[in-house]
Amino acid sequence: MAQLLLSSEDLDRTCQRLAHQFVEPFDDPGSLAIIGMQTRGVDIARRINGYIKQFFSVDVPMGVLDTTFYRDDFRTRMKMPSVQVTDIPFDLFGRDLVLVDDVLYTGRTVRSAMDALMSFGRPSSVRFCCMVDRGHRELPVTADYVGIYVPTHLNEEIRVETNEQDGREAVFVVRK
Ligand code: 5GP
Ligand code: MG
Repeated sequence: MAQLLLSSEDLDRTCQRLAHQFVEPFDDPGSLAIIGMQTRGVDIARRINGYIKQFFSVDVPMGVLDTTFYRDDFRTRMKMPSVQVTDIPFDLFGRDLVLVDDVLYTGRTVRSAMDALMSFGRPSSVRFCCMVDRGHRELPVTADYVGIYVPTHLNEEIRVETNEQDGREAVFVVRK
């Protein structure tokens, strides 16, 4: 049973709101950069970045990060980690980064994403944005920017669909 949480219109409007929030702390957003976490975090990050360009006329550099091998539990939890691309085509030094992922759950992925980032350079600051915060943290992690909070049961999961991966867009909660 799948229950709709965000329609494609909701998802789009949320990305517009997040675009404003990413830029809000800065007089000059020139130091801002966005890192999308594979796979659907990248699609969401691109959408937000498109709106930043549309609303504020600034080109914010974007990179993509695959955290598969940085996860502290990937051997036990993940059956077959599929390795994707990490591509950060700019110097992290002095940047104010926003990491973007589709779902925040235990917090282990974003923790390992920070390890990975620090091996690339020393940003000025790192913030974290997730489209869905489904609760059940195992580490002291919170997101700075959240699309939607969904207190899930352990037997539920979030299904995020993006045009790029799924040919349609929506967010559902589903019984496993
Ligand atoms: P965490 O490391 O916080 O436990 O899990 C977050 C990572 O796993 C994210 O990269 C996210 O894509 C994926 N993830 C965890 N739970 C869910 C879920 O319920 N639905 C989806 N679509 N991804 C999840
Ligand atoms: Mg993921």
